[in-house]
Amino acid sequence: MTSLATHTTMLRDQMLAALREAYPAALSTNQIAELMPAIVCRRYCEPCHWWCGPNAGRRADVEILKCHRDWHLIRRPRNGEDIHKHLCALARQGLITRLPYNRSAHPCVFWTVKPDLAAAGVIDEVEAIWAAA
Ligand SMILES: [Zn+2]
Repeated sequence: MTSLATHTTMLRDQMLAALREAYPAALSTNQIAELMPAIVCRRYCEPCHWWCGPNAGRRADVEILKCHRDWHLIRRPRNGEDIHKHLCALARQGLITRLPYNRSAHPCVFWTVKPDLAAAGVIDEVEAIWAAA
């Protein structure tokens, strides 16, 4: 029996909500990532001047929460890579659908909620299932 960490459950919940809101339009992985809260993570093995120096090359949307000289606690926007496995997990559970992939039409993967999940009440049931897992 596996139990999902609370933050994972919350993130998946937010992804479902974003897709439900967009429905009947589908969203690409990157579009969903942009709607998710920023992620806090530790970065090791990178010199301090990368992050904190006057010429630090970090992106403007990356925030340094704490400098420990040899490692840093940062906050950055979520990207498609962060959420891809969660989208795949939701798809495996049958909660969302990956649209047929057509690289020539668009280089991104698109997702949508299943039509029967667009009804609000079903989301509550999903939450109950996760809570019980
Ligand atoms: Zn630093």
